This record gives sequence, C-alpha cells and structure tokens, in this order.
Amino acid sequence: MVSVLDFEVGGDEFITMAGPCSVETESQLLATAHHVRRHGARILRGGAFKPRSSPYAFQGHGLEGLKLLAKARTETGLAIVTEVMSECDVPVVAEYADILQIGSRNMENFTLIETAARSGRPLLLKRGMVATVADLLGSAQIALDNGNSNVILCERGIRTFETATRNTFDIAAIALLKHISHLPVIADPSHAAGHRDLVPALARAAAAACADGLIVEVHPNPDKAWSDGEQSLDFAAFEEMMASLDPYIALRASAIGESSALRAMEAVG
Ligand code: PEP
Ligand code: MN
Repeated sequence: MVSVLDFEVGGDEFITMAGPCSVETESQLLATAHHVRRHGARILRGGAFKPRSSPYAFQGHGLEGLKLLAKARTETGLAIVTEVMSECDVPVVAEYADILQIGSRNMENFTLIETAARSGRPLLLKRGMVATVADLLGSAQIALDNGNSNVILCERGIRTFETATRNTFDIAAIALLKHISHLPVIADPSHAAGHRDLVPALARAAAAACADGLIVEVHPNPDKAWSDGEQSLDFAAFEEMMASLDPYIALRASAIGESSALRAMEAVG
C-alpha cells in the first residue's frame, strides 16, 4: 500500500485520480478540481510538463502549472499527481506534487526513475506503449532498489495492430499484476481508449478486474482542451461514470476479500 496524505492507494478503498490532461488556466483547473472532488476523486491529475508528440503542441506551463496544482490542493484537499519528464525537474516537481508520474514515454528512462525514486515521493509508473508486464515490473524494481517502495503501477493501454482505439487496453495485465505483484495497480481508461465515449466502460472493467483505482481525464469543455480533448470526460459524464462504478467496486471488494481470506487460510494451513 502507498500512503498519500491521509489515505492509501492499494488498500480497501478504490481511489480515483481525475483532472485535465494539462493544466491550462486557473479557472479550468480549480473548477475541475472542485467537481472531481465532489464526485469522489481523491487525487487531482494535471500535466505541467507535457510530453507531446509534436514540438509545436502545447508543452505545459512548467512551474506556473505546479503552483496552480498546489493552489488546487489547498482549496480542495485533493492530493496532486503530475508528470516529471526530466531528472533536472525532479526537485521542483517533488516540492509541489504528492505523487510523481513517470509517463509511458519514460518508463525505460532508468536515470529519471532513479532520481524520482530518491526524491522520496511516491511514484505513479505508467506502462510504456510497447513494454511488457515484465518490463514494467523491471522499471518498478529500479525504484525499489533506490529505496522507494511506494510505486503505483498504471496500465494505460499498449500499441497493437488495432488502431480503432488509441491503444489496446490490456485488462489481463491488471488481473495479472494483482496476482504477481504486491504493488498497487491503477488503470487509465482515457489514454487506453482515446475516445471519451469508451472511457466509462473501460473504467468499470478495470474495477471488476480488481484495479486499485483509476486515473481519468476530465475537462470543463473537452472540445476546447489544449490536449487530449477527444478522450476527456466533461463534468456530467464524469459524474455519471462515478455513479455507475459502485457495483463494480463491490465486485472488487468481494474478490479482494476472497483472496485475502484464501491467503490467511494458506498461512494457517
Ligand atoms: C498523461 O497522463 O497525460 C500522459 C501523457 O500519459 P501517458 O504517459 O500514459 O501517455
Ligand atoms: Mn493526456
């Protein structure tokens, strides 16, 4: 389990991280933070340093974005997860964020992982687009070897021959990781799907597969988002998705209960 502020990721509670792909403006971020908190999120996501495919696309506000995230934490009590892209930025991101996100494009950037691990902050390690489950666990091991056991794994879809969705959501990887690793596993249905209409179904599937939580992109006006608008939920869709998760979270709770009962019996017998 990974402790963040006054709660835990990887315990009984299903943890939702939600927020915009990028921190754009104060009003965009604060409105989103209040909305997602009202509907059950514990952690606010938002990129201040953005890895973009095009050098001409918005690259993030950097330090100004981090300051807005910190303001949102003060106003809402939400914890903050945000990406760190470079070793040089680790100190400043660790100063403002509660969890450092290592993005897919950096899952095999071992010096970044080492430096981020040594900051002492929990890490959210996203699976690389062409990384196997073993590769993901190998990268997590680097953080553990650098004295940081607070690693949260994230399945965010992988590249396959299928192009109808942005990535292929590897639900089996979630179930597998919950079997073979003690680390918390969360799902990112937004980057997996690439289309907002598919996000709630993938989120429900992830909960049923025993994921420990979600990271979801939410924006006040997705069609005007500076990045990843096509996969971002608007406020109403986020609220509806959160309300629809309950039976799936209950399935997860009973499955977790069964497996811990089984482990207890094995330990006794
Ligand atoms: C993100 O979370 O906005 C992001 C860039 O994700 P990924 O690294 O999974 O592409
Ligand atoms: Mn994004």
